[in-house]
Amino acid sequence: MKTFFAEEQKRHDPKAFLSSGAPQPNPERPERVERLLAGAKSAGLTIERPREHGLGPVAAVHTPEYLAFLEHIFARWQRIEGASAEVMPNIHPLARTGSYPASAVGQAGYHMADTACPISAETWQSALWSAWSAVEAAEAVISGAPAAYALCRPPGHHAFADVAGGFCFINNSAVAAQVLRKQAGRVVILDVDLHHGNGTQGIFYARADVLTVSLHADPVRFYPFFWGHADERGEGPGLGYNFNLPLPRKSADAAFLEALEVAFQRIHAFSPDALVVALGLDAFEGDPFGGLSVTTPGFSRIGEAIAKLGLPTIIVQEGGYLCDALGDNLTAFLTGFGGKQR
Ligand SMILES: [Zn+2]
Repeated sequence: MKTFFAEEQKRHDPKAFLSSGAPQPNPERPERVERLLAGAKSAGLTIERPREHGLGPVAAVHTPEYLAFLEHIFARWQRIEGASAEVMPNIHPLARTGSYPASAVGQAGYHMADTACPISAETWQSALWSAWSAVEAAEAVISGAPAAYALCRPPGHHAFADVAGGFCFINNSAVAAQVLRKQAGRVVILDVDLHHGNGTQGIFYARADVLTVSLHADPVRFYPFFWGHADERGEGPGLGYNFNLPLPRKSADAAFLEALEVAFQRIHAFSPDALVVALGLDAFEGDPFGGLSVTTPGFSRIGEAIAKLGLPTIIVQEGGYLCDALGDNLTAFLTGFGGKQR
């Protein structure tokens, strides 16, 4: 099984974000890449650079005004006297039904859900290459590979069609799923990140061709707070095609694997042609976010269980933050999944 990754993905280097109102160092560090690359190599995977794929696959799930914002906002921000070094929002619309703001500050508030996704000079290119890694993995599976791993960084699952959030700019899992739709009638996205995949849910919320399933720490007292509850089931033609499994804080391997079985029942009933795994490793017991208590052997069992679905699979990297076991957790998942043999 191949890993797709481009060096440009390391250039985005956000400095800060607000946590409970306090400025903190941003945990979505370029160093995550080194740990994850080492983890993929330890699992026996080969690393390949993706090709450039243009804006098409990204524009298939994001609005043009949002993509123009991501590409140009940093340069525009530099013209504001006294502005912050990185683009950060400070005012948000209460409803998104009004007119589109013309100013850089207004657009930052319109297109950024929170302060965790500051935009610097390198952000656009890093996010684009991250998405191209996902596209390349999807193309590999379309060409007949049973599975592929996209080492996406920056991550993507908190990005909506026109909103960045939670360290995410382009929704790589959604991009991969949409590319798969060229060949697969029905695609399922299974999100095992610690946090609810709110952006992915939002992108496919009214669609019946992509089933979105997310296991995550209960958002009642955890990011992203406003999404991820069990009663969010989709809307319109997509009603019944979104499935959330919020877990009590500190849930460990047994509870996670039990919820995964419930997810599998729903996935079987959807009878998908292909699978995208939104692989966050931050459900780990030692992750700095401390929301769930999955162990390193637990990730191996999760990988093994997902492999048994027997579907063409793209594994897309989402969260998982700096801790001693970050690389080992990826190795455990990929080994459990049987990555070397695929
Ligand atoms: Zn996460």
